[in-house]
Amino acid sequence: MEPESPTSSLPSTSSGTGAGTGRILFNRYELGRLLGRGGSAKVYLARDLQSNSHVALKVFSKATKSPAAVAVREISLMSKLRHKHVLRLIEVLASRSKIYLVLELARGGELFTRVESRGKLPEETARKYLRQLISALRYCHSRGVFHRDLKPENILLDENGDLKIADFGLGSLSGLTHSDGLFHTVCGTPAYVAPEVLAQKGYEASKVDVWSCGVILFVLCAGYLPFNHPNLMTMYRKIYRAEFRLPKWISPELRSLICKMLDPNPQTRITLEGTDGITSHPWFLSGIVDTQWTAEMRSHEDMFKLEDKLEEKRVLNAFDIISFSACDLSRIFDPAMSVRERFFTAEPAESVLTRVEEAVEGEGMVLMSSREKGSEGIRIEGQNGNFIANVEARCVRDGLSIVEVVKGDGSRERLFWKEKLGPALNRSV
Ligand code: AMP
Repeated sequence: MEPESPTSSLPSTSSGTGAGTGRILFNRYELGRLLGRGGSAKVYLARDLQSNSHVALKVFSKATKSPAAVAVREISLMSKLRHKHVLRLIEVLASRSKIYLVLELARGGELFTRVESRGKLPEETARKYLRQLISALRYCHSRGVFHRDLKPENILLDENGDLKIADFGLGSLSGLTHSDGLFHTVCGTPAYVAPEVLAQKGYEASKVDVWSCGVILFVLCAGYLPFNHPNLMTMYRKIYRAEFRLPKWISPELRSLICKMLDPNPQTRITLEGTDGITSHPWFLSGIVDTQWTAEMRSHEDMFKLEDKLEEKRVLNAFDIISFSACDLSRIFDPAMSVRERFFTAEPAESVLTRVEEAVEGEGMVLMSSREKGSEGIRIEGQNGNFIANVEARCVRDGLSIVEVVKGDGSRERLFWKEKLGPALNRSV
């Protein structure tokens, strides 16, 4: 899968984006080399031609399984988060067949590579990473966002060696639980997955993230996985029983923390914070005075509040695709699925709606215009008040609008669509 339209070629490049294609996407990003690939997307280095800075471009395409669902989940979660140790989503772009996430570039690569190359990390270094990880998770959980697939491959490092949590493709929001208040989706990577997820009886996502952090902490300090076996069933059994062997060099304090994080019983497993939580554990606190930690946390939180305020004032951008499309972009890839249809167009939203008005004129129908939250819409009714169609359009960015049409499914409405509305919108279906 290669990123495709809308592109144009770059005459000559001294971009420093590595051995890339040199193609320009959306007149804005020069595509560089492949940085990595995940389950549902490829990630490329790219140069922002406006600011001349580098970013990472995560490309979800139609060729992958449920790309829209994964992309939408990732976008909707990441757009809620602004934290020093969470990879920042800068912008979302889309062509007819692909969704592009423009992400902050993590120049230091995967934390995993660092462990691999060094075998194991000194406790002091592992502590630094754990603190940054926990600081990010406290923030995410406080915003109702859970990662559910934490592992060293999803933890990236910036140019200063500071940690950034990435890949929220399996993440979840609080409130999306079953009636028992628990999550039931089995997800995550086997070696990092908590026993209650494997048991499929429902779980609390915050506790699952703590378990995965325990596995990560173990890997950082030991240099190998706590639960690993070629036979998956044997590995699961080890996870259920929390059967792991810590190497001799691990200090007693660290040993105690890992055992509390890898407690197979989620009810007794250590929590992130609180007097008995990770942030109060002696190993975690070693070397810092409590006030230093709280002050650092407070300054981060104040900064985020300020940034949130600035964000609110920002001109609408493509994050609004998400709210506009009610967290379901899948129909962009398969418009035939229902009478609700969404599509992107290069035309400005106003001119799409003008053409709709022109198509309806003289047809003896009632037109009602609405304008809300940056989107404009037209509701079309027959003279007896029967619903014919609703067309909403929103500008996503310069040169890109998203249009949503809900059409009535009766024979009269279908005929109106076929003869008038469809051609006006350049849609034949
Ligand atoms: P993901 O699908 O998000 O897990 O990304 C797949 C791989 O691409 C990661 O494991 C990283 O090696 C790389 N990658 C993803 N996002 C970035 C980024 N923002 N900066 C640098 N590399 C990245």
